[in-house]
Amino acid sequence: MAFAIAEYNGVTEVPHIREKLTEAAMYLQTLKSLIRASCLDFVMHGGMPVPNPVTTNIAKYHFADKYHSLVKLIQDISGGSLITKPTYLDWQNPETHGFMDKYFSGKAGTSAEARLRMFDLIRRQLASEYEVMVLHGEGSLMAQRMMILAEAREELKRCKKIADDMAGIK
Ligand SMILES: Cc1cc2nc3c(=O)[nH]c(=O)nc-3n(C[C@H](O)[C@H](O)[C@H](O)COP(=O)(O)OP(=O)(O)OC[C@H]3O[C@@H](n4cnc5c(N)ncnc54)[C@H](O)[C@@H]3O)c2cc1C
Repeated sequence: MAFAIAEYNGVTEVPHIREKLTEAAMYLQTLKSLIRASCLDFVMHGGMPVPNPVTTNIAKYHFADKYHSLVKLIQDISGGSLITKPTYLDWQNPETHGFMDKYFSGKAGTSAEARLRMFDLIRRQLASEYEVMVLHGEGSLMAQRMMILAEAREELKRCKKIADDMAGIK
């Protein structure tokens, strides 16, 4: 879902989205590797081979402990349309269908229907209105980070001057 919505939004090559897709891939691959390792490193119980209980519990711990980070990441990549997009009734309505078809198509070559379907799936499985409102209302997290750096430049220059003075740099 992370990669799908990044593709439909046309942002797979944005640096911070690449970082998030890397996180998602690591989450999945770690889980798959632990499951596989638990089977390869089986233990015998009553003459029966069973997956290694330490490794299976590490797998479950990893899955549960990192799950909310994964959900946040997918909500972040998706954008506010997860909860603000019009409804299926609007899609069926001839008066609004054309506007949705035009304005919800993402990357060139991506249909609005595919993007809307992916928003629906993610919303059903991974998103509450409050979570997405907190993340995207008034701009995405990355928008805040860009503004913080832009607005903090003077302060950072003052800090550099202090560090230069301390290091004896003229
Ligand atoms: C509950 C709610 C209420 C809102 N109310 C208002 C309102 O009153 N008025 C109003 O004007 N808006 C409102 N919004 C819209 C809100 O401002 C946007 O949702 C928000 O700016 C994020 O934009 P987006 O949804 O288009 O997501 P996107 O901009 O598509 O963001 C999705 C992801 O892609 C990344 N991304 C997208 N483009 C780039 C890029 N070029 N470079 C780097 N990263 C990129 C983002 O960082 C993010 O991780 C509301 C949204 C919500 C959820």
